[in-house]
Amino acid sequence: MKKLQTAQSFQSAVPSTHSILGLTAISELIETHGKALVTDAVRSALAELRELLSSIGDAALTETRESAVTLRIENHLAHLVDVSLMPVINLTGTVLHTNLGRAPLPDEAIQAMIAVAQGASNLEFDLETGRRGDRDHHLESHICRLTGAEAATIVNNNAAAVLLVLNTLALRKQVLVSRGELIEIGGAFRLPDIMARAGCKLCEVGTTNRTHLSDFSNALEPRTAMILKAHTSNYKIQGFVSTVPEKDLAKLSKSADIPFVVDLGSGSLIDISQFGLPSEPTVRKTLADGADLVTFSGDKLLGGPQCGIIAGRKGLIKKIKKNSMKRALRVDKMTVAALSALLNLYNDSKRAVQRIPTLRLLARNEMDIIVQAERLLPIVATPLKDVATVELTACQSQVGSGALPTSALASAGLAIRPLGNKRSKGAALIHLSKAFRELPLPVIGRIHEGAFILDLRCLEDEDGFTQQLSSFGISHL
Ligand SMILES: *Cc1c(COP(=O)(O)O)cnc(C)c1O
Repeated sequence: MKKLQTAQSFQSAVPSTHSILGLTAISELIETHGKALVTDAVRSALAELRELLSSIGDAALTETRESAVTLRIENHLAHLVDVSLMPVINLTGTVLHTNLGRAPLPDEAIQAMIAVAQGASNLEFDLETGRRGDRDHHLESHICRLTGAEAATIVNNNAAAVLLVLNTLALRKQVLVSRGELIEIGGAFRLPDIMARAGCKLCEVGTTNRTHLSDFSNALEPRTAMILKAHTSNYKIQGFVSTVPEKDLAKLSKSADIPFVVDLGSGSLIDISQFGLPSEPTVRKTLADGADLVTFSGDKLLGGPQCGIIAGRKGLIKKIKKNSMKRALRVDKMTVAALSALLNLYNDSKRAVQRIPTLRLLARNEMDIIVQAERLLPIVATPLKDVATVELTACQSQVGSGALPTSALASAGLAIRPLGNKRSKGAALIHLSKAFRELPLPVIGRIHEGAFILDLRCLEDEDGFTQQLSSFGISHL
């Protein structure tokens, strides 16, 4: 009973919300952040203080001082106004990292986004006639010129593109797909599920490793509405394998009078074998081989904003644009602006490789990265000298986002190994990688065979990376 009374008397040491809101320091916070937010922060801080007093009693009394309470409130406020999404430095070696936002945009695309973000634009307005326009109009002619397609339309991402194509052209009908192509692309994109959601009936043909043209022709029936080929972008089946060439599938679908659709995934506009990567089918080649429609992502090898592009026959695109689902999946003005600026860069493929960060990073040669690693080694090693060793290391960068999963690009980086005995090293490594993530511009690397590895292929903002290393005192480590 006595104890309870004591706890209650400590509680009376907690100032009231009202008295706190009258303090000068707090009215300054209200000026900046507004009364509602500051009041929330005050309430949370005081609740925390009450809890502290009831658990540790007079040991917490210093926390009831005005300066301590103010600090507590400021901390709560910082949490409330904290912007969660922020830039990071991608040193994972995966150029198109889905969790790190995929393609970095070229300056031209960023400027175009700023220009339309600031005010009104002619997004769906025809300046010549003064009538209503079409947002696809800003992109369609570029896409057609670069791919040889007759028409094109844009949606939010390639998953949406596939969904919309299926729903428009094969609702309640059958779609033929090879068993070797029933893909899952992380993040719950599974072709059979998308097909069900689109209202189509999946008809699997052939086997996992071998599918022949006759498998497709035998499966054709009056209910068949489409042949779909999904580019197996994130895995490879090797050995006793057979797939049907696109040209043959195109011929068969033509004879059956149904569309042949190719989900290309990455869908490059240029030949990426120039970067030492295996050749991937370009959009132009796939259409030239007879695909009636292709779908591909804007933020994979294309190197642009997140979107899905559907390109191909005019009549089919027209039907797709009439589907009311298109309205639900359409892109915003910023995407239209960024994509249109990006596509402009592709008119000169040499300029594209220089100006589009994704292509520029894939094209970086190993020697250039080694020189950078040598330059950075002492700068990284100095603040870490008491806790870790830093060495040059060879790296194998990847394209990422499921593209070319078995291909690697020779690269270089830094291997950081904590000092200390073997048992404590695992924990030290985790601690080290966390310290890098806690920098003002978080640095994301990867842990591999007892070292924290920073692959430098994607490091373009070298100053941004190095300037903050001094702020990374030993106290972090
Ligand atoms: C990546 C990919 C998708 C999904 O594209 P998002 O733009 O991520 O929605 C679909 N199909 C294939 C073959 C892919 O590689």
